[in-house]
Amino acid sequence: MLLDLRTIYLAGAITALILGLVQLAAYATGRFERWPLWWGLSNLLMGIGFIGVGLRGVVPDIVSIPLANTVSWIGYLLVLFGVRSFAGQPARLPLYILAIAAAAIPLFLWNEPEGFVRRVVLVSILVMACDVLLVREGLLLWRRDRLVSGAILAALFAPTVILFALRAWLAVTGELGVELFPADNADPWFAATGTAFVLLRSGALLLLAAERSRNRLVTIAQHDPLTGAMNRSGLERAMARIAADAGKRPGRLTLLLIDIDHFKSLNDTHGHAAGDHILQLFAGAARSELRASDILARHGGDEFVALLPHMPTKDAVRVANRIRSAFARALADWDGDPLRQPTLSIGVAEGDAASDELETLLQHADEALYRSKRLGRDRVQVQIHALAR
Ligand code: GH3
Ligand code: MG
Repeated sequence: MLLDLRTIYLAGAITALILGLVQLAAYATGRFERWPLWWGLSNLLMGIGFIGVGLRGVVPDIVSIPLANTVSWIGYLLVLFGVRSFAGQPARLPLYILAIAAAAIPLFLWNEPEGFVRRVVLVSILVMACDVLLVREGLLLWRRDRLVSGAILAALFAPTVILFALRAWLAVTGELGVELFPADNADPWFAATGTAFVLLRSGALLLLAAERSRNRLVTIAQHDPLTGAMNRSGLERAMARIAADAGKRPGRLTLLLIDIDHFKSLNDTHGHAAGDHILQLFAGAARSELRASDILARHGGDEFVALLPHMPTKDAVRVANRIRSAFARALADWDGDPLRQPTLSIGVAEGDAASDELETLLQHADEALYRSKRLGRDRVQVQIHALAR
């Protein structure tokens, strides 16, 4: 005998228990969000349930059949619950209670040995339904939240849909036999593969959590916490992305360097908190005038950069003026001195998206910005080179 079915169940059970304990220990450190709690509990319940099932014939049937299967099923449902709560979906507790009852009631009613086929069909259909929902959640996480681990999750849950469909079919056609651990041993590879997949999933779940944490850290590292605009590091990465895209689709790139006029005196008059609020108002106003593909970054203090790919200077000047108007509108509700509302000075520079360095564009835009300031502020000026072209 190459593989013993009972050993597969019990080895799977012990592995699930260990995985569950590791996930709960990870949760107990307080360094993770609450997802390892759901997944750890899920593994523990599946482990306990599998032990009960694995001891069929050794412990009373009431423990090994309805109790053990219901406990495993609750563990299975907890994976779905955990993934849905990870994805920010509503909990829908009554549906879970219904799903538990849908397994527990028939299992208790079909407790006798002759109920084997019915039990296998019922549990297989329930598990398949749960797996289909998990594949859907994984694909949604992949597409909507751009988590590649969502696709891995879907790929790990999809095979068991087929495995359990096959198991239900074999049970109906009588090929599975009439008991779980027959003396002549049915095809044990089936159980071995199913158990491996059930256990493998813990890895995908942790991958999901790790990928999202990493994405959040990258976002934090590349953004200014006050205004939500990108910081210098984010701007450099965005510029590198634009240059890489321009390799495939060549084009011009316009950069706006935007500075709030007399910001220091606004800070002095109304306080630093009011200054912070104005910076946030500016970022909101600028974003409302930019396209989704444009980049807004805080260059430092009261100075911001907007990168406008595939936009010629003429249009960029229009956008710059629209940002000035949007900022003035945003300030209309601000209860500062209405006669001394802060204004914007903007310098515009244009370059080749693929070959011009960020530093060069910034330098040209800075020259134009300096001219705006010298000419009396509250205006847009274009770099000399662009005018000469
Ligand atoms: P100009 O019209 O020539 O641009 O003059 P300005 O006063 O706007 O420019 P300056 O560079 O002299 O002052 C910028 C001020 O921005 C100085 C600094 O105190 C203030 N500042 C920098 N970062 C922050 C911030 O995060 N919050 C607030 N409230 N103020 C900031
Ligand atoms: Mg300023």
